[in-house]
Amino acid sequence: MNESQPETAGSGAGRVGRTSRDGRPHCPRSGVPSAGKGFRVGKLALTFDDGPDPRWTARLLDVLGDANARATFFPIASRAAACPGLIDRILAEGHEIGLHCDEHIRHSERSIECGRRDTARALRLLASVGVRPKLWRTPWGDTASWSAQVADENRLQIVGWTVDTHDWRGDTAGQMLRATKDDLRDGAIVLAHDGIGPGALRADARETIDYTARVAEHAVAAGLELGTPS
Ligand SMILES: [Zn+2]
Repeated sequence: MNESQPETAGSGAGRVGRTSRDGRPHCPRSGVPSAGKGFRVGKLALTFDDGPDPRWTARLLDVLGDANARATFFPIASRAAACPGLIDRILAEGHEIGLHCDEHIRHSERSIECGRRDTARALRLLASVGVRPKLWRTPWGDTASWSAQVADENRLQIVGWTVDTHDWRGDTAGQMLRATKDDLRDGAIVLAHDGIGPGALRADARETIDYTARVAEHAVAAGLELGTPS
């Protein structure tokens, strides 16, 4: 974990990033894009990893609500379990919650036994707050030869992304919009973060929220619905 990256206050995420031994930031270019089975034409999917964050996820939900948009959240399971009210709100407002992880591990660096244990722990934590995920965004989008098997065992569909905001770097909303606008098209899956994950170079998610508001405007102009990939 990049030690310069502050943990989220009250997140209860003590395990986050423990295995990021090379200090690489979360979810870089290694993600495997996957539009996902059943992804409907006419939709743009915003996805947010590493939350929930009591402050920033709540603000993000306000923005999504104002835009009548639905999004998908892939929270750190311990953070989700520590914020039951926020999880309730995410679900009540029509968003989807998928599995991310308990410990933020790279599958390619771990055994299937380790992956099974982490998945079981994460699913138990999510179940404790009423979440039974169908989608799985693996940490950093990294997969191993066993990832698909563990996904099948748990009836999960692994979902990647087609557009990476790199919001963990601390770019402004304007920078992110300019960098991604051409790819915000029908069927795109956008990776962003509502929590401060391992390796992040920013202290908050303010720019991600501003970016989301601008993407919502863009979607309206382009005739696209902001929805979920499932
Ligand atoms: Zn992550």
